[in-house]
Amino acid sequence: MTTRARRSIVDLTAYKPGASAPIKLASNENPHPPLPSVVEAIAEAAAVINRYPDNGMTELTAALCEKYGVRPEQVAFGCGSVTVLEQIMQAYCTPDDEVVVGWRSFEAYPLVAEVVGAHLAMVPLRDETHDLDAMLAQITDKTRVVIVCNPNNPTGTAVRRAELVRFLDAVPDGVLVVLDEAYGEYITDPDVPDGLEVMRGRDNVCVLRTFSKAYGLAGLRVGYLISDDPAIAAVVRKTMMPFAVSTIAQIAAVASLRAVDELQQRVDEAVAERARVTERLRAGGYPVPDSHANFVWISAREKTDEIAQRLMDNGIMGRPFTGDGIRITIGTPAENDAMLSALGC
Ligand SMILES: *Cc1c(COP(=O)(O)O)cnc(C)c1O
Repeated sequence: MTTRARRSIVDLTAYKPGASAPIKLASNENPHPPLPSVVEAIAEAAAVINRYPDNGMTELTAALCEKYGVRPEQVAFGCGSVTVLEQIMQAYCTPDDEVVVGWRSFEAYPLVAEVVGAHLAMVPLRDETHDLDAMLAQITDKTRVVIVCNPNNPTGTAVRRAELVRFLDAVPDGVLVVLDEAYGEYITDPDVPDGLEVMRGRDNVCVLRTFSKAYGLAGLRVGYLISDDPAIAAVVRKTMMPFAVSTIAQIAAVASLRAVDELQQRVDEAVAERARVTERLRAGGYPVPDSHANFVWISAREKTDEIAQRLMDNGIMGRPFTGDGIRITIGTPAENDAMLSALGC
C-alpha cells in the first residue's frame, strides 16, 4: 500500500456479513418476501428514479409522525439505522471522546466508533443482559454517548422499565443515551419498555428504529432516529449524506407503514415460533435465555463452533461468536424445524 490511510482503519477488522447457505438464519432478516402492496409501490417508484430522492423525506416523516405522535423536527433518517448511528458518532464524538456499550452486543458498534476514532468502553454483560449499573460506573468526563441495545443483539435479552428509568435518571445530562430498538416490534413482555415512552421529557435520549427487521426491508436500507429534544435529530440530520435514503426505499417504507396489520401477522408468527424454538432447544439441553427479538441465543461457550458446524453440515447458516455462543434467527416454521432437527431437538 503506497497511499497513507489512517492506521486505525487499515488495522480495523472489516464487518463480515454471514456467509451463504440454503437456509439463512444468520442475519436476523425477515424470512418472508416483501408484501405484494410493497412490491407494487416499489415497481411504481422505479419509474421516477431519474430524479434525486426527496431529501426532506416528507411523506415518510409524516407517516412516522402520525404513527408515533411526534413532530417532524424530532425525526432523522439514514441509510439503515447503522448509518444513523454513524451519523450520531460524527455529530457527537471526536478522538478524545468515549462511547460506552454493553458487550457482547451488536458487531457494528466497534466499527462506527472506530471510524470517528472514539474510544469504546465495552462493559461485560451480566447473565447475558446489559449491566446498567456497571455501564453507569463506566461513564467519565470523556463519555459522549452510551448505547443500550434493547433487546440486545446477539443475546435477545432485554432490560426492564424500572432499571432503565433508574439508569436514565442517573446518567449525566450531557451524555447522549441511544436506545437501539432494531427489534422493538418483537417485544411482548409488558415490563420491557418502549423507548419512545421512557424517552419523553428527557433531553439526552434518542431511539433508533429500522425498517430492516420486522418490516422486512433489509435490502433497501432505511433507519431512523426519534428524539424528544429536536436538537438531537437536528445534528444527526446534518451528518446525513445528502440523498442517502433512495426514492424506492422511502416509498417502500411508506407502503410498509400502511400495511401494519399484515406485517403484524408476520411478527406474531415469529414470536410464536420463538417460544416453540426456545422450548425445544432447552428440552434438548441447550442453554437459551428468554429472547425478546426475532432470534435466539445459545450460550454455547466452548461448544459454539461445533454447533455452528453441525448447522452448516445441514445447510443452515447461524451466527457463531467463537467462545461465547451462537445466534440463530427465527425463520419460517419449516426452516426452524430443519434447524431443530440438525441440533437433535
Ligand atoms: C439489524 C440491526 C440494526 C439495523 O441495521 P440497519 O442498518 O437498519 O439494517 C441496528 N441495530 C441492531 C442492534 C441490529 O441488530
